[in-house]
Amino acid sequence: MRFDLITLFPELVESINQWGVMRKAMNAGLYSCNTWNPRDYAQDRHRTVDDRPYGGGPGMLMMYEPLAAALEMALEASAQENGAKSKVIYLSPQGRRLQQSDFCQAAKEPGLILVSGRYEGVDQRFIDDYVDEEWSVGDYVLSGGEIPAMMVMDAIVRLIPGALGHQDSAQQDSFMQGLLDCPHYTRPEQVAGKKVPDVLLSGNHKEIADWRRKRALEITCAKRPDLITLDDYDLVTKEFIKRFL
Ligand code: SAM
Repeated sequence: MRFDLITLFPELVESINQWGVMRKAMNAGLYSCNTWNPRDYAQDRHRTVDDRPYGGGPGMLMMYEPLAAALEMALEASAQENGAKSKVIYLSPQGRRLQQSDFCQAAKEPGLILVSGRYEGVDQRFIDDYVDEEWSVGDYVLSGGEIPAMMVMDAIVRLIPGALGHQDSAQQDSFMQGLLDCPHYTRPEQVAGKKVPDVLLSGNHKEIADWRRKRALEITCAKRPDLITLDDYDLVTKEFIKRFL
């Protein structure tokens, strides 16, 4: 998958490619990360990319022209590689709040262009002319779109087949099956006076799977009852869930 990032801080977003799952996935050729800095497309000798808002008010805004020029380059390069237009996403607190299902969908795209704002945001005309979708990472405001863009890349890359050591890892994560993940334990068998639940040492795969599902349901009911839609479950499970809700 090809990512193109429009950002004033390319080194910041590129740092994510150097660590852990992302580094391995990039080295395996599962994704590429290309950055385009609007400052390189500024039209004056000071390489200006921001200006004051019309109508007054605090802060600065990213200007249309350097952003558009950088984006045009990204659109052309990605279309050349993928043979199709990449979707243009503007990371914004005003966008759709992202969920795991959005990333599962996005992981099927051949490419995505992620635009990171700075200052008080970007000129509205750029959004109107170029942006296909606005995505938010939550109901709070950050100083720039780079960290949201890195979050988006990370959440997508780990869903690309081959990115995680074990194929099933992502499937068993929270939200993938509509529930939170069950608790996990590792060595030693006993620590701080606490023992690993016996069933996990039993070697009985059916009992382990049943225990994990039951614990995942309990945890979801306790921590995130909003995730439970009773329609999705069979009668026995519904009765089980109703005891918690
Ligand atoms: N004035 C804008 C508003 O209130 O909607 C906020 C601008 S914010 C200080 C600067 C940039 O950070 C935005 O253009 C956006 O790219 C990014 N950003 C901030 N919070 C975000 C969030 N929750 N999700 C995605 N991007 C965010």
